[in-house]
Amino acid sequence: MSKNYAKETICVQSGWQPKKGEPRVLPIYQSTTFKYETSEQMGKLFDLEESGYFYTRLQNPTNDYVAQKICELEGGVAAMLTSSGQAANYYAVFNICEAGSHVVMSSTVYGGTFNLLTVTMKKMGIECTVVDPDASYDELCKAFRENTRCVLAETIANPALVVLDIEKFAKVAHDHQVPLIVDNTFATPINCNPFEWGADIVTHSTTKYMDGHAMSVGGAIVDSGNFDWSKYPDKFPGLCEPDDSYHGVTYVEKFGKGAYITKATVQLMRDLGSIQAPQNAFLLNVGLETLPLRMERHCSNALAVAEFLEKHEKVAWVNFPGLPGNKYYELAQKYMPKGTCGVISFGLKGGRSAAESMMDKLSLAAIVTHVADARTCVLHPASHTHRQMTDEQLVEAGVAPDLIRFSVGIENVKDIIADLEQALSFV
Ligand code: PLP
Repeated sequence: MSKNYAKETICVQSGWQPKKGEPRVLPIYQSTTFKYETSEQMGKLFDLEESGYFYTRLQNPTNDYVAQKICELEGGVAAMLTSSGQAANYYAVFNICEAGSHVVMSSTVYGGTFNLLTVTMKKMGIECTVVDPDASYDELCKAFRENTRCVLAETIANPALVVLDIEKFAKVAHDHQVPLIVDNTFATPINCNPFEWGADIVTHSTTKYMDGHAMSVGGAIVDSGNFDWSKYPDKFPGLCEPDDSYHGVTYVEKFGKGAYITKATVQLMRDLGSIQAPQNAFLLNVGLETLPLRMERHCSNALAVAEFLEKHEKVAWVNFPGLPGNKYYELAQKYMPKGTCGVISFGLKGGRSAAESMMDKLSLAAIVTHVADARTCVLHPASHTHRQMTDEQLVEAGVAPDLIRFSVGIENVKDIIADLEQALSFV
């Protein structure tokens, strides 16, 4: 697809390009296997001598057409889909880390990512230092070690809604010869392209706005192609040294800017198998077609809801980076001038118990463990998604015990506000 198309056009038209007589709509390649005519043809695929599909645990055409669309939206060189956002962040880090490696991570990342890095990957021998995303450059430098291999953060943190100073994080990562991985789930490529600000790898939980309808769990990884792994062969031996499991192929030599995604596909997908189901990729593609329209509505609705809450006498505080006066308003204007996302957090004067009873009275907004879909939904992170965290970790993650996470949908905003108004009358 032409690089000159606007994002709205890419969302609708990119990826699957039917030829004469082929289906207009992206087909679901509902097949585990792919046929070849000679044994030699198949052998070449296994040697990475030729590219082609052979088994859906590694790659599937439906997925790849959708990944291509996401790649174009982010302005990257290569992309892949994963079975979930968790798998995307795990693969993005594990593709360049191994036992003995170290990661620098923002403290405000999503609870699942926090757990992945500080608990599960720790058991694999990968250490993680958690940093305050608002720390100065000099303070951030102190977190780096000789064995640091990447920096991980979120464009807009879930649920703290901290806006990342991407340029600051990219500089500190690059000054320590490692890439910056940014989880761009909440902003989506419609509102922010982290590569334009120096990020090297972008991840997504496509489960959120990209799918947009709470239908399919999925993830994506996109490589900007900008990080030169070959400059630091000692830090990234997995990319710069021969891979014995593929007859000694060296990814950076054979695949150039495609090295990172190729390795994650042929090595991590082969061995760990967190592929997205082609059915889910199909649904994701349908969601992507309307992503720009939905993001615009999510953002304008969220701003109206934030303004309503800010004026309400029973509301103690409101956090929405699109709200003038918010701590991250300036950073949001810089990195996401079109809007941030549809997620708001707020607390009530009555504290945690008031939050719980108000939530029970909502009727349009549903209590669900989800965020960022067309329907307005609500969650109390301290009791739900973040309940494994200590109070100290909650504070570090920017999650106050009374924090209500309100994901504003694309319904008529008057109905969303009316629902909040009636629920607040019971508090
Ligand atoms: N990253 C962010 C910012 C998220 O909000 C989430 C889930 O809420 C994830 C990653 C994990 O994604 P998934 O639930 O698709 O595994």
